[in-house]
Amino acid sequence: MDVDVLVIGAGQAGLSAAFHLQRAGLSYLVLDGEAAPGGAWQHRWPTLTMETVNGIRELPGSAVPPVDPMTAARVAVPAYFARYETEMGLNIRRPVRVRSVESVGEHLVATSTDGHLYRSRALINATGTWSRPFWPFYPGADTFAGRQLHTHDYRDPGEFDGARVVVIGGGISAVQLLLELAPHAADHRWVTRRTPVFLERDFSPEAGRVAVAMVTDRVRRGLPPRSVVSVTGLGLTPGVRAALASGLLDRRPMFSRIDPAGVVWADGSRFDADVLFWNTGFRAALDHLGPLHLRAPGGGIVMDGTAVATDRRIHLVGYGPSASTIGANRAGRLAVRELQQLLADPTRKA
Ligand code: FAD
Repeated sequence: MDVDVLVIGAGQAGLSAAFHLQRAGLSYLVLDGEAAPGGAWQHRWPTLTMETVNGIRELPGSAVPPVDPMTAARVAVPAYFARYETEMGLNIRRPVRVRSVESVGEHLVATSTDGHLYRSRALINATGTWSRPFWPFYPGADTFAGRQLHTHDYRDPGEFDGARVVVIGGGISAVQLLLELAPHAADHRWVTRRTPVFLERDFSPEAGRVAVAMVTDRVRRGLPPRSVVSVTGLGLTPGVRAALASGLLDRRPMFSRIDPAGVVWADGSRFDADVLFWNTGFRAALDHLGPLHLRAPGGGIVMDGTAVATDRRIHLVGYGPSASTIGANRAGRLAVRELQQLLADPTRKA
């Protein structure tokens, strides 16, 4: 099947791109690996509500409908996306997972789980991070006798009833989930690689701009992107403030090894644990782009805006600085604007 632009992924980034492609009059198709609308939101843990998310930015041209703040994000956001897809008449095919993309002459050719070949003049990749939970390596992890899980697999604080838990990670998910499970656990430790920075004020637009600029600089240099929170800090909400005052959020540095019974720090101190809960983030899900050899020596992909610097037919949206609902929206618009020019005049190609 031939289109001007193939979009892979129908989360916020892919839907924004589809909206702008449609408006620009380019032929396009979105392939999405999910069985239903909602991108990664449909897989978030049930206790993440519209009140506890950081804020969902509306998709282009359609306001987020009012919703009870206690509604699970995994219900509210997919319902919004489903309505949006229908209202906008977007061209989406699912469930179709792209296995690989190759460059064949002037075209990009995608192979997929539905057995079809999809040929396009350009590609907007919007595959997010959810399918690539990151588990850092610590010696002895494979010997641990208890349970190990990642944010990706978390469902319910009741899973931690009476357990001794080590919560690993310094991001928002680690903090939110620690506060949620602590009343259930028999005991816990919180460990982070860097000393967490708590912001006195809520996440301000200025802090957001600085964070985005820092991540933009990393991807421009071909380094793996870092999460925006890792460069801004954590919001000092009333719940977090109370937890800090009570000692619940007493952070320890990373342990140096894991043994069958628990974790051990460099000074020999230890904590015997039943569960190691890794809230250590996600990486960009880009394995299917492997045949395009886009990776730079720094381990990331050298980006110029949303375009891959070495092949401007390919745009990554929801990647690096645009890995947020607001960033994904903007990235979809920018990618389409550039591709419109490129497809009208292919000599602009790098
Ligand atoms: P996703 O929503 O992950 O969508 C990617 C889509 O691509 C999925 O449907 C997936 O199935 C599909 N896909 C993946 N690989 C393939 C393939 N090979 N072939 C076909 N399809 C494929 N941002 C905010 O702005 N506010 C928040 O409150 C917020 N909370 C968050 C909470 C958590 C726990 C996490 C992990 C992230 C949060 N974010 C938040 C970030 C935000 O969710 C995303 O950055 C944003 O929604 C953009 O999503 P996306 O479109 O890039 O990816």
